Amino acid sequence: MTDAPTHGFDTLQIHAGAKPDPATGARQTPIYQTTAYVFRDADHAAALFNLQEVGFIYSRLTNPTVAVLQERIATLEGGVGAVCCSSGHAAQIMALFPLMQPGCNVVASTRLYGGTVTQLSQTIKRFGWEAKFVDTDDLDAVAAAIDENTRAVFCESIANPGGYVTDIRALANVSDAAGIPLIVDNTSATPYLCNPIKQGATLVVHSTTKYLTGNGTVTGGCIVDSGNFDWSANDKFPSLSAPEPAYHGLKFHETFGGLAFTFHGIAIGLRDLGMTMNPQAAHYTLMGIETLSLRMQRHVENAETVATWLENDDRVDYVTYAGLPSSPYYDRAKSCYPKGAGGLFTFAVKGGYDACVKLVNALEIFSHVANLGDTRSLIIHSASTTHRQLSPEQQEAAGAGPNVVRLSIGIEDSKDLIADLDQALAKACG
Ligand SMILES: *Cc1c(COP(=O)(O)O)cnc(C)c1O
Repeated sequence: MTDAPTHGFDTLQIHAGAKPDPATGARQTPIYQTTAYVFRDADHAAALFNLQEVGFIYSRLTNPTVAVLQERIATLEGGVGAVCCSSGHAAQIMALFPLMQPGCNVVASTRLYGGTVTQLSQTIKRFGWEAKFVDTDDLDAVAAAIDENTRAVFCESIANPGGYVTDIRALANVSDAAGIPLIVDNTSATPYLCNPIKQGATLVVHSTTKYLTGNGTVTGGCIVDSGNFDWSANDKFPSLSAPEPAYHGLKFHETFGGLAFTFHGIAIGLRDLGMTMNPQAAHYTLMGIETLSLRMQRHVENAETVATWLENDDRVDYVTYAGLPSSPYYDRAKSCYPKGAGGLFTFAVKGGYDACVKLVNALEIFSHVANLGDTRSLIIHSASTTHRQLSPEQQEAAGAGPNVVRLSIGIEDSKDLIADLDQALAKACG
């Protein structure tokens, strides 16, 4: 179908990017479990390799099933194009790769997924890149951290796991003033609860492993480009603005305009970094996305119900959920995320570290796993797992202290989730 902007989210999550299979008429998008595609003739092959024509060459770069998912996510996010890759962490590297060079830095929020803090604070140093972590509520501090070598600002929309929501518009104003792109990890909010591009983001990254797939089956990632950034305004982004030796001096921005970042992501990023999404994973994620809005509505409804119950329980110290009136981010969530503050939150257990360990052991419906955004309810004690590599200060900054557990509320009956938490808290605090 044509993705007419008049179509609603529920229609687009099922139809965008897909049409009956041209070879067979199959209504569902087939899994093209295929590596290579026959060229019509030598001229066709040459045109594809010169990026003069768009088509399928080899599945490290493009695959018909993955292409449908790319168009689906780009449409739901309101971007001009998207590149899928093998995981959320791959998406983050793929997003930074065209922007950065040795000596460059990214200004990143202190409130990020634990693995992202490790990736940005440790691993990217080996590329000669650096991250400067700043409290993104302090816009002056963000502006002050940006220097002549800064190539991006990075944040999460609904931040994992601390009950924090970012004012993307305010942050975009700062990055715009500095002439650098804002990258938003929209994994926890999904395009159903938030469209960062509409609030001024340049690029959106996803771990499709989470809510977009929704059922804990495959890992994947995606980078969506708004198409709005002028990569040629100065000489900060030569990968996109300067002649590319690997393509006979082609300039991506000059040649592809708003699609420069997307083309670069495929023609250079996937070609040379090889962090490719496989067609099976794309299939599972396409299945999941068809019900995204329905699931997110229930995730939010259940999260509000369970968070309210926990907040009123004596064994609980506090609950950090931006959907609760007690949250300092409640008003911001209402205005920036009007459909809800997501399905993730943390709470602090009286009795600290030991009580948290007993709690996760006693739960029966909630599973103790390092994942989120599943139809199933999940719990994790971040301080002993996902945020274990962080210093105590970084743990506190991320809202993952020793007395805190994170819940990823599923789409089960909320009364059953509450009963499970009730019996486990009795064992943990008894
Ligand atoms: C899980 C997650 C990631 C990393 O994604 P993977 O698919 O596990 O590589 C990044 N950001 C957020 C917010 C996440 O939840």
